[in-house]
Amino acid sequence: MYRAAVLTTLLYGVESWVTYRSHLRLLERFHQRCLRTILNIHWIDFVTNVEVLEQAELASIEAMLLISQLCLAGHIFRMEDHCLPQIALYGELSAGHRNRAAPKKRYRDSLKKALGACHIDHRRWPTLAADRDAWRHTIHQAVSSFENTNRACLEDKRRRRKTRKASAQIPDQTFICSHCSRTCLSRIGLVSHGRAKCYINTHTHTHVSACSHTQTKCMHGMHYIHMYTHLIIFWNIIILLITVFIWR
Ligand SMILES: [Zn+2]
Repeated sequence: MYRAAVLTTLLYGVESWVTYRSHLRLLERFHQRCLRTILNIHWIDFVTNVEVLEQAELASIEAMLLISQLCLAGHIFRMEDHCLPQIALYGELSAGHRNRAAPKKRYRDSLKKALGACHIDHRRWPTLAADRDAWRHTIHQAVSSFENTNRACLEDKRRRRKTRKASAQIPDQTFICSHCSRTCLSRIGLVSHGRAKCYINTHTHTHVSACSHTQTKCMHGMHYIHMYTHLIIFWNIIILLITVFIWR
């Protein structure tokens, strides 16, 4: 049902698309979300995208896109010379120029990239595409190989990330606090500990006994605010007394 209704609607006219990496990411995300909902896989199950595709027995969107685009390219190549699609594919504008730096991709650029992804020589592809059956066979084999390599790359990337994470948890060097002998795993951890926890627990103030706060809650700022408040009230009382005395 998903393949018949959703994928055909999602990839309608995919043969003529000029896709960027951001488009592919969006499409893959939607594909994964749909498959995960159908297979009842939640994020807490920790199932990778590759495993989801294997369970669903479906290819990634990029592989589907490559097959469609290369099929159409072969089909256009085998058309007669006066057919419009072939004129559009091989034609060039007689006037005008493309922007410098990174101009927008054309269909031909997209096709060249697709051929490159499938390891098909872009200079040799017309000879392959001339024979319909041979071209279809080549495309399917090349895209299958591309998909396998892509999945292996993703698995490898994940494995490397996990190894990096595991090795990061056991640091070679530890940092020990000089006040409370607490062991921190990083320098920034030690700085943070010194600023927040160690300071509150171990710092002793000369005016702690005069404050109503407990030692763990006590900070310099709070004490000074209390002291200033007391001073202001004291001065207010003195000014009030002087005023009353003058009025008499
Ligand atoms: Zn400490």
